[in-house]
Amino acid sequence: MSLAHRGVLFLDEAPEFSKGALEALRQPLEHGWIRLARTRGGTEYPARVQLVLAANPCPCAKPGGDTQCECSPLTRRRYLGRLSGPLLDRIDVQVTVLPVRAAELMATGGANESSATVGARVATARAAAAERWAPVGRRLNAEIPGPLLRRSPWRLPGHDTGELRARLDSGSLSARGFDRIIRLAWTIADLDGRDRPDREDVREAIGLRTGEEA
Ligand SMILES: [Zn+2]
Repeated sequence: MSLAHRGVLFLDEAPEFSKGALEALRQPLEHGWIRLARTRGGTEYPARVQLVLAANPCPCAKPGGDTQCECSPLTRRRYLGRLSGPLLDRIDVQVTVLPVRAAELMATGGANESSATVGARVATARAAAAERWAPVGRRLNAEIPGPLLRRSPWRLPGHDTGELRARLDSGSLSARGFDRIIRLAWTIADLDGRDRPDREDVREAIGLRTGEEA
């Protein structure tokens, strides 16, 4: 993680990693640094990364998807279960990718944007975030402490966060998840060129985090 500091750490086929390796991601994901303790003392390394995990729905990973899968329901559940709840609680965006059909692969035109276009939009969004957070000495939405986001002038109005608070109260969302969704909503607004997130941004962020349709 420290080697990927300020970059992207991509773990392909994440459930194939050992439980210990996966769980060791949690603390640095939370704090942005990693502490190694030994008998004669400890040391800290920077470890602020964008973590990307990829996982097949099951070990057989047939190209036809669920219709061709040969795994038992128990095997499937165990496989994705290796990505523990506490680890997934630290993942902001979960996207289900469906198998690509030949017709889609060969299609031309449509809504495809070039990487350069997307890159420019991301750069603009990051610049907006950096300018906003400069007075508090931060650059990215992901780095903003929860208490700061929940205070004036950054606190979002109650009618925009009602669904979030209901999920928190019902126990379907952790306090960590609450803050992470708010940060994601700020990023959605930045990508859209608006200076504050609204209720729709919060809903979209909930959808991205939970994998539910927004
Ligand atoms: Zn399978």
